[in-house]
Formats: sequence, C-alpha cells, structure tokens
Amino acid sequence: MNTEHLSGLQENLEGIRQLLSHLHGEISTLEVQYRQVLRVLENEREIHRRDELTGVHRRSSFFENWGRLIDGATLAGSEIGLILLDVDHFKRINDFYGHPAGDDVLRRLGEVLRGFEAAGCAAGRLGGEEFALAVKLDPGGLSSLFDAAELVRKALAEVALPDGSTITVSIGTAVAGADALAAGDAAGVQQRLYEKADEALYRAKTGGRNRVVEAA
Ligand code: GH3
Ligand code: MG
Ligand code: MG
Repeated sequence: MNTEHLSGLQENLEGIRQLLSHLHGEISTLEVQYRQVLRVLENEREIHRRDELTGVHRRSSFFENWGRLIDGATLAGSEIGLILLDVDHFKRINDFYGHPAGDDVLRRLGEVLRGFEAAGCAAGRLGGEEFALAVKLDPGGLSSLFDAAELVRKALAEVALPDGSTITVSIGTAVAGADALAAGDAAGVQQRLYEKADEALYRAKTGGRNRVVEAA
C-alpha cells in the first residue's frame, strides 16, 4: 500500500468520522424533541383525565388511580378506605345563589380534594356534586378513615357562599382490610367498597346530613 493510497484512506475515515459526529448531533436533537413531545402529550392526557370545573379526576380515571392504590396497598399489606361525599341541598344552593355560585362551590371543593391528592390519596368527581376519595391507611400516615373523613368534612364546611354562610357535606365511608385486599382483585374490591360507602352515605343523608357515617 503506497502513501497516496494511505492518505486517501485517512481522508475517507475522517469523512466518516465527521458524518458520524453529525448524525450523533442530529440524533441527540431528535431525542430532545421526542421527549418534549412526550411531555406535552402526557400533560394533555392528564388535563383530559381531569374534570375541567374542579380539577379532580373524572370518574373513569379516578377508578384507574384507585385501582393502582389498591394494588400498592395489597403488596404493602395495608388497608384501603373509600370516602364518598355529596354536597347537602346543592340544588337549593343553585336555586338560591345561582349556578355560577354553585360552580364556585364545586371549584373550592376540588381544591380541598386536590390537597388530599397531593398527600397520596386518589380523588375523583363521580358526577354532579358527588365526589370520592380513596385513602391508603397506614399506621405511619393516615390511620383512621373516620378521622380522614372528618378532616374532609370540616375542610369543606369552610367553603363559603356569597353571603358568608357555609356549605355542608354528607359522607359515607367503607374500609377493605389487608385480608379482603389479598383475597380479591382490585375491581371486586372497588365494587364492594363503593356499594358499602354508598349505603353509608345514604344513611348520612337520612340521618340528618352534615355527618360521616361508617359502613356496617
Ligand atoms: P341532597 O342533600 O339530598 O344531596 O340534595 P341535593 O339538592 O344536593 O341533591 P339533588 O340530587 O337533588 O341535586 C343536585 C343538584 O346538583 C342538581 C344539579 O343541577 C346540580 N349540579 C350537578 N352538577 C352541577 C354543576 O356542575 N354545577 C352546578 N352549579 N350544579 C350542578
Ligand atoms: Mg347533594
Ligand atoms: Mg348527589
């Protein structure tokens, strides 16, 4: 191999090296753009998962998040509690103060529930003025569902109407212990807890409203 041939090869290698370095730069740029697009899509998906008035999750994504919470609690051997709440005499609030004031109440309610979401609970708007909060019960964190529900009830009792009076909510709660979680699948646990908390909520309403009732 003569020197001329050798320097030709070197030039070719240098060309390939530059091309690879250029491609490497292009790939890095594409990776950055791809990650940006994924972030935008994930944000959009999250916005779509949430109810636009209250900012808490819509019913279907609430059930998904709650299902994940159940899976985590089952692995950890913890308990899961469900808090079902419904604003008292909301129709009267709308009729008396107008729908925009009713909407404001729901917005404030959403803010309170999102505070619990930030603490690891799953919150959702099940429809109208009915909401749910799924809570993982741990000795080191929230350990009493009744206490958690009372916290919610009292926080919501501070939501003020235009004339300064406040709203009340009725709450039904139900708990699935570690044994029940280990024995069933997430969907079955959800169905049982929902039925029990709904029955307790009914008793909270018929018992005079503005109270927490635990499922039998
Ligand atoms: P109870 O104490 O028994 O729960 O009585 P209630 O009046 O709260 O219950 P009812 O089911 O009779 O009325 C619920 C009302 O909630 C009726 C509906 O117009 C109103 N509502 C549902 N969704 C919205 C909303 O997004 N905004 C407003 N402002 N009102 C809503
Ligand atoms: Mg109501
Ligand atoms: Mg209702």
